[in-house]
Amino acid sequence: MDKMYLSDDILNFEEFIVNASKRLNIDEDTLKNGFSRKLITKYEYNEKKYLCFKKKLKHIERGTILFLNNNLDFIQGYPKIRRAMVLESSVEKYFDGKIAVEEKLDGYNIRIVKFYGETIAITRGGKICPFTTKKVKKYINTKFLDDFPELMLCGEMVGLNNPYVSHYYPEADKNHENLGFYIFDIRDKETNTALSIYEKERILDEYNISYVKPIKIIDSSDFEELWNILNSLNENHREGVVLKDPEMLKNPIKYTTHNTQCGDLSVAFSYVYDLGIDFMFSRLVREGYQSFEKCESEEEMKKRAHDLGESILIPMVETITEISKEGLAKECFELCFDSEKDFEEFINYLKTMHINFAIESKEYIKKDVFKSKICRIYNSTSDKIKSHLEGNLW
Ligand code: ATP
Repeated sequence: MDKMYLSDDILNFEEFIVNASKRLNIDEDTLKNGFSRKLITKYEYNEKKYLCFKKKLKHIERGTILFLNNNLDFIQGYPKIRRAMVLESSVEKYFDGKIAVEEKLDGYNIRIVKFYGETIAITRGGKICPFTTKKVKKYINTKFLDDFPELMLCGEMVGLNNPYVSHYYPEADKNHENLGFYIFDIRDKETNTALSIYEKERILDEYNISYVKPIKIIDSSDFEELWNILNSLNENHREGVVLKDPEMLKNPIKYTTHNTQCGDLSVAFSYVYDLGIDFMFSRLVREGYQSFEKCESEEEMKKRAHDLGESILIPMVETITEISKEGLAKECFELCFDSEKDFEEFINYLKTMHINFAIESKEYIKKDVFKSKICRIYNSTSDKIKSHLEGNLW
């Protein structure tokens, strides 16, 4: 049965497993098991086939991709960043000396590499995204990748006009779109070893590539400064921080602001039956720990509770209202392409990803700007709410 996945590319599955296992330094049984459990699946980009690891398998990260070329080139997935629930306790436990406090941007994770001489942008889940690839080619100086073929640029694509996480960033305003790309790590493609913060800054300055500059490098015991930074990020509705060892020898830690938790809950309760219970639960629990750690007064706690309640209730009622009128829960994105052909390529990509969507509008707004409004349809939310509105019981 295993052979089915690869039969049109690799004649001898057993031989492939032996080679891939050597290349990835992982045992053959784990690989075979990954195939039979469909944790490793095949995709195609520009007629080149690649495998995508949908879950972490031993040291092979989720989102790793392996090209079905002679050399079995692969690019490791971006490693998970663990979250502090009680900030000061975690900082004390995991850091000593200096920490670089970087802003955590609210967009989507992209790894950029060159493959067969072409720059490609890989999503966190391990898909080569044609939309992001085109934007990266347009906005980033990719000479770096020619000079350092063993390295990858890891960064966050942010802004309103993208198909994944739509969040306005004033600094990302371009001519027709709000879209920006900021590198946060430079890593070895195969080992994931990261350059130090200083080396990263030096190289990215040299190549004139935009990146997430540390807000400040602080002493790991300077909690006053850390909370000052977080309070100011919260006031400005920014997502949070990633705390990094300046030498990048220790694993980074993330922490997010109250307003981010509220924003996440609003999205979750807009599409209440599509986004998992775990997603909502984890955001609520974070707020409990934050309130405790900040030693909040009764009044402050009430304010937090009020914010949380609003974030949950208002979007949920809005969605029920929308479904009562239009019958559908949808999330819309306005995207700009260089041509209708690029737009069609992206639509085909969405189809291969089995994403349920509708095209609301598409037109050339300028000679080389093709704009489209694409809406993602949330089926479970639409169907369940419709059913209750029709009187069906829980
Ligand atoms: P995971 O917990 O597996 O990392 P997640 O989707 O839960 O995945 P997030 O909670 O969004 O991830 O936090 C990790 C992500 O934060 C990274 O994958 C990266 O895309 C993003 N990020 C934003 N800014 C930075 C930064 N300055 N440094 C590192 N990562 C950043």
